[in-house]
Amino acid sequence: MTSWFAPGRINLIGEHTDYNDGFVLPFALAVGCTATVAEAPSDWSVRSAQEPDPVVVRRSGLADAGDVPEWTRYVLGTLWLLTDRGVDVPPMEITVDSDVPTGAGLSSSAALVCSVVRAVDDHLGLGLDDDAVFALTRDVENDAVGAPTGGMDQLVSLRGEAGHVLLCDMRSHDTRPVPLDLAGRGLAVLVADTRAPHKHSDGEYGARRRGCEEAARILGVPALRDVSGADLADALGLLEEDELRRYVRHVVTEDERVLAVARLLDEGRLPDIGQALTASHASMRDDFRITVPEVDTAVDALLSAGALGARMTGGGFGGCVIGLLPEGDVEGAGDAVRRAFADAGFGEPSLFTATAEAGARRV
Ligand code: ADP
Ligand code: MG
Repeated sequence: MTSWFAPGRINLIGEHTDYNDGFVLPFALAVGCTATVAEAPSDWSVRSAQEPDPVVVRRSGLADAGDVPEWTRYVLGTLWLLTDRGVDVPPMEITVDSDVPTGAGLSSSAALVCSVVRAVDDHLGLGLDDDAVFALTRDVENDAVGAPTGGMDQLVSLRGEAGHVLLCDMRSHDTRPVPLDLAGRGLAVLVADTRAPHKHSDGEYGARRRGCEEAARILGVPALRDVSGADLADALGLLEEDELRRYVRHVVTEDERVLAVARLLDEGRLPDIGQALTASHASMRDDFRITVPEVDTAVDALLSAGALGARMTGGGFGGCVIGLLPEGDVEGAGDAVRRAFADAGFGEPSLFTATAEAGARRV
């Protein structure tokens, strides 16, 4: 029997920069998924502590996979893709158990996929290196599930380090831990899960992605990552559509903010990152237009209650907001968010503090 744990994540800053080949700065959470692989007499069977029924399937590649419940594709995907790559994957039973809430923007899917890939690799003694493990976790979500994720979630779930955010270059997939010494500075990250329903998020995500690709084509660059802050004014002058101008301004300034925050953290200037966090939110609200009233309300409430900076985190149209706060202000800020939600007639938000923890590990 082999068990691996892999965590969920929160992105400190860098939204919609991943598919533009840019930069993101996520950290791994304490919550995560544990996958246990055991030998079985025949077939592949998967069970989740969060699902009522186990599922048993015949061994096969992806093309011959039958119709199975969506959630099992995150698990079986590893076995299908390894089979396609010529690995003779024996009969086995995989059990998963996760305390990452699903669909809240904390990446329960990466926790699930990364724990399974690591456990299967270890159990079978495949000896996949870090890059191959990452590529497989991304292929499972993209090809076996059909979720167009850029890979940030898997990178940080695999490689996160305690007390650090992970600076990820989403073109090369190079990563570097950057210190996030919250406790040492008497600060905390308060997360408000707005529980706002993700209305239209798929269509809007696709529209943003296509818009960014079109802008890159017009500007003659491989991706918006290749437009620097110094080039921004010229680039905007080449774009006729206001919508594309706004998208480019968000992506280019967001990449700059990610790198500025990483620099400040390297210099031990954690309290000084607040301004960039709040500027990121304004850019998502006004230029990229991916916020909703619930997240704007939560950000405003956090800032009024003493946050050094606050922003929506995740793809948008709902999900979570983070605030960087002095530890002593956390409780009051949580109350302020609850009050603002009640006044606005929104549902009850869920509030918790997050610390940066280690990535995937054997348990
Ligand atoms: P997020 O990653 O933000 O939580 P996703 O939509 O990407 O949201 O992934 C959520 C999906 O992952 C769930 O709908 C389910 O299919 C799968 N999943 C995550 N955790 C589990 C689990 N513990 N058991 C079964 N399926 C899970
Ligand atoms: Mg996900």
